[in-house]
Amino acid sequence: RNKAKNIQLLCARLLNEYDGEVPASREGLVTLPGVGRKTANVVLSVAFDIPAMAVDTHVERVSKRLGLCRWKDSVLEVEETIMKKTPIERWSRAHHQIIFFGRYHCKAQNPGCGSCPLLDDCREGQKRLKKGLVKI
Ligand code: SF4
Repeated sequence: RNKAKNIQLLCARLLNEYDGEVPASREGLVTLPGVGRKTANVVLSVAFDIPAMAVDTHVERVSKRLGLCRWKDSVLEVEETIMKKTPIERWSRAHHQIIFFGRYHCKAQNPGCGSCPLLDDCREGQKRLKKGLVKI
């Protein structure tokens, strides 16, 4: 219900304030109902081909497990750190790669550490290995 309401409000705002065009800037996008920084980054990257790094639950979890970011980092800090550590021309692709890796392999529950090509370099994987939680 909330999403439907936001979509209606968003369409009205696009027509009334943006001449029916989706704005191609983060500042413009986040003024739209239901659009936060993550969604704005996805739209910038996918629809406008503007480099951006959208951090969702998968990107945050995988980045922290791998030790790319600190456990205590906020979503914004994760975004900034990944952008610093990844060449700009790879941001959009890396975003999708990390999401799919997190969704299907490095899952929140029961990550596939035993068959993970990143196990040797992964902080969380090594911790699980020492605890005997990883079957290889
Ligand atoms: S070793 Fe485990 S925790 Fe680390 S990235 Fe692979 S699946 Fe995720």
